[in-house]
Amino acid sequence: MEVKLAKTAGFCMGVRRAVDIVLDIAQHETRRIYTYGPLIHNPQTIELLKSRGIRPIENIEEIKDKNNAILIVRAHGIAPAERKKIKASGLKVVDATCPKVGYVQSIIKKHTGLDYSVIIVGDREHPEVDGLLGYAGGRGIIISSPEEVDKLSCNEKVCVVAQTTQNLDDYNEIVDKIKQICPQAVIFNTICSSTEQRQAEVTAMAGEMDAMFIVGGKNSANTRRLADLAQKKQPATFHIETPADMGKIDFGPYNRIGVSAGASTPNWII
Ligand code: SF4
Repeated sequence: MEVKLAKTAGFCMGVRRAVDIVLDIAQHETRRIYTYGPLIHNPQTIELLKSRGIRPIENIEEIKDKNNAILIVRAHGIAPAERKKIKASGLKVVDATCPKVGYVQSIIKKHTGLDYSVIIVGDREHPEVDGLLGYAGGRGIIISSPEEVDKLSCNEKVCVVAQTTQNLDDYNEIVDKIKQICPQAVIFNTICSSTEQRQAEVTAMAGEMDAMFIVGGKNSANTRRLADLAQKKQPATFHIETPADMGKIDFGPYNRIGVSAGASTPNWII
């Protein structure tokens, strides 16, 4: 059986950077280390981090001794108001926001300062989008589907950005509709190139291989999106989180299997 691993499978730059920052701090830090939400959407990596004393929290009230703790902001970033609140609590904050997410935040900040309203094309529930919305200071809205564009009323100055892990085709479809309603909109395609490259490689691979295995957390939105993309080209697509997920698969019909993985999947799992 031929097994082909995608060149773009696994950690993206931002996630690798965040994991490196945390592991580096853990080596010399005596204070307790927390991440604001799970560092990455991969349960096995979270367990590994826990074994090194690094714990995810959802709320800063979970940290009792704030003067003896470090809180890491993960690659998704957070809203400015939230950052302010954390700092005011006395916690030491280490920022592992991906520079590419930081770039989207800066576009939003700059344009709201120039009186633009901001449309963020992304998943309402995603923490990155939540953080981005915070940068719009009450002048932002989230659009998650082409249908939602119909409800849009267009102001004079509108700026459009994307969640960095949006699907390019979905983004383009939404942007085309926005342009019809707001021809003056200033559009920034802020989809991360690592996402585009990963998605393009998976689509090409899915057309060539007998089956596709997409490896990553079931809670990882970008892994799920990758599996959805592969599925469109190759119905024999499987989302694999751990080797146990492969137990029920009949490998008989497949001679060529393509493997890719989400941006939050470490090499040791792939
Ligand atoms: Fe950064 Fe891109 Fe990775 Fe998002 S997908 S964390 S923007 S490198």
